[in-house]
Parts: sequence; C-alpha cells; structure tokens
Amino acid sequence: MLYPCNMSLAYFGDSWQDHRDRPGYLAQGWEPGLDILSMGQAKIDLVSVLGGKVTRDKDAGYNMGFGVYCEIDHGLQPDGHRYKSLYAHMAGNLTSVGQAIKPGQVIGVMGSTGNSSVVHVHFILWKDGKNVDPMQYLTGAVVLPPVVPPPDAPPTGKIVTPIAAVNVRTAPAVLAANAIGLLHPGKTIESTGEIVESQGRKWLKCIVYIASEFLGGV
Ligand SMILES: [Zn+2]
Repeated sequence: MLYPCNMSLAYFGDSWQDHRDRPGYLAQGWEPGLDILSMGQAKIDLVSVLGGKVTRDKDAGYNMGFGVYCEIDHGLQPDGHRYKSLYAHMAGNLTSVGQAIKPGQVIGVMGSTGNSSVVHVHFILWKDGKNVDPMQYLTGAVVLPPVVPPPDAPPTGKIVTPIAAVNVRTAPAVLAANAIGLLHPGKTIESTGEIVESQGRKWLKCIVYIASEFLGGV
C-alpha cells in the first residue's frame, strides 16, 4: 500500500488508537484514522494508497468534522480482502464520485478543513467494511501482494458451434495474421466471429482465444 501523501518527512499526530479512545467523536459518525501532519511543509499532495473508484467527495462543508474529503473504494485486493480509504481535512479535493483512480494518483492537497487546528490528513482505512489501523499497512507490518493485471476480457457475443470439419481462418481484413487449421472435433469455441460460406466450405472468422488448443494442421 502506498503512502497517502507526497512528503519528505512524515510527522504523526493522533494514532488510530488515540481516535478510538474518543467515544464522543465515534458517536457522531466519525471514524478513527491516522493523523499525518504537514509540520510546515508546503502544499503536500495527497495520493491514493491503491487504485479504485471514488465513492464520496466533498468539496466544502464541515461534514462531521472531516471537512473537504474524498473516499475511494479499492475493491477486492490480491490478499482476498476489500479495502476503502478516506482522506479528510483537505485544502482542496481533485476527485469526483465515480472517478477511477490509479494507485498513487494525486487526489487532493493536505489542509485543515473541518474539525482541525493544524494542517494534516486524517487517513482512514477499512478492510472488509471494518475500520483498521492504517499504521499496520504504512509501516509494512502488513503487506498486500502485488496486483496481477487481469487477462484481456473475452469479447462480447458468443458462438458455440460443433466444429467437426470446420476450418478456421482469420480473415486478413479482420486480423493482422492468418491462422489456418482444423478445429479438434468435439470442442467448442467462444469468439466474436461468424461462420461464413466461401469456396464451398464453411469458415469461422474469429479471434481465437485458445488458438493453440484449437488449431491443428494446415
Ligand atoms: Zn484525526
């Protein structure tokens, strides 16, 4: 998980546990987080600790003490858990609800809006909907496995067809390369393609996703 602010030196204020010890705040809907202070460093960018999508953004107002803030839903992570983060007391928020956010993307500037007396970020982290101590993640005590990019999504549309005696040829006009071969009998194939009749034979124009499995000899 990335560090939530671009700064040369980090100074910490109230810890997650400090915040937890204030039931009055919690009763008002406040959520415990970690305070990271600017200590005079100018205009510190806040960045998203993971990729995700903006689920709440407030450009003005007190907002339960959060002031200007945004919340990002990071979805399911490679450790099998769902994370969400919130960055409070911003001087300015650059995000809007629904926006996709990359890991490390600048989302705002550290400030002192809402219930705050010094420039800092109140950084909140949820794991599976439960508020957790961000320090565990920022110090490396808990490390998330790297995100493996998903394979290219298969095309929409589907042809499931018996393939005995059907030759496969991708038309040069459609794809850069030609592939000619026999489909193995009994297999099915998913593609955006179509069956076409040409030269007295049936051809399947398609993008073959498991090409090596389906393409036989010429
Ligand atoms: Zn705080």
